[in-house]
Amino acid sequence: MELRKDPITRSWVIVGDDVERQQHSGYCLFCPGAPNAPQVIATLHSSDHSAGPVMAMVHPSPLYRIEGEPHRHAEGIYDAMNTVGAHEVLVQSIRHDIELWQSSDAEISQFLMLAAQRIQDLKGDLRFKYVTLFKNYGAPAGQEFDHPVSELTATTFVPRRVLYELRASRDYYMEKERCVFCDTLGQEIRNNVRIVESHGNYVALCPFASRVPYEIWIMPRPHESSFERSIASKAAHLGELSTLIRRTLQRVMSIAESFHLVLHTVPNTYQKSNILQYWKTVDEDYHWHIEILPILATRAKPYFLKEVYYTHISSEAAAEKYRKLAIR
Ligand SMILES: [Zn+2]
Ligand SMILES: [Zn+2]
Ligand SMILES: [Zn+2]
Repeated sequence: MELRKDPITRSWVIVGDDVERQQHSGYCLFCPGAPNAPQVIATLHSSDHSAGPVMAMVHPSPLYRIEGEPHRHAEGIYDAMNTVGAHEVLVQSIRHDIELWQSSDAEISQFLMLAAQRIQDLKGDLRFKYVTLFKNYGAPAGQEFDHPVSELTATTFVPRRVLYELRASRDYYMEKERCVFCDTLGQEIRNNVRIVESHGNYVALCPFASRVPYEIWIMPRPHESSFERSIASKAAHLGELSTLIRRTLQRVMSIAESFHLVLHTVPNTYQKSNILQYWKTVDEDYHWHIEILPILATRAKPYFLKEVYYTHISSEAAAEKYRKLAIR
């Protein structure tokens, strides 16, 4: 397998004749005592032992491998490199049947702490430019394992969507010396039509130009660029974030059976690059957030909807519906 860069859109693509993922059948690889369980990278016990440990494990069929160097090279005008990186599975609970939105706030906090620690740790490796935390829930979302897990990848490049956000937030900052996310949040709070819930330092809202019906984001209200640094330094606010994540996912699960969740945080700022200017003001201009993209229809999309997003419900209507749901 190798990574190839599209010379026009500058997106990296994983290319390989063996990309077809292995299927894991029979027993659960992530339940305690599983035979041939993947290698454990880190374990985090709850401070008061009220819940079982959460664990990071090596993905059983990883997209990226930790050994070696990226060896970025040219093939004529093209760029390619090896699929060096990390691909981990974060086991959210030792229980096979408890998902994040059914967990206690303490359990969710423990999972978020583990995620923050793994991101920090992987950013210590200067080969990696970006670490992504994501969760695919439900078959239409491409869920791979039955056990309640999330995944984490560390890559030698910044993924396309994050790169768009970084470039746009840097441009906005250059012009206005303000964070575009803070400005957006300020206006949304004033207008109060797309806010779903505000809890302590965190807000859940449906973005103005949602890409899919019922898209919902969770953001810190004060300016923070790095999820992992904030979690490590502001443990006092962790409970608020856990509550909001639990309640938001309950809302999503009342409307959809499947979703993608992704954390967008700063790229690896230990990896200072002189070529890519976005590192310079990134702590001022970028603002971490969690994006949740519910999947409603499993019908195949016609081509034009792949190039232009279309949603049949406005984010105002989606936020109103979310607010009216009974959540515990
Ligand atoms: Zn299991
Ligand atoms: Zn901000
Ligand atoms: Zn984002």
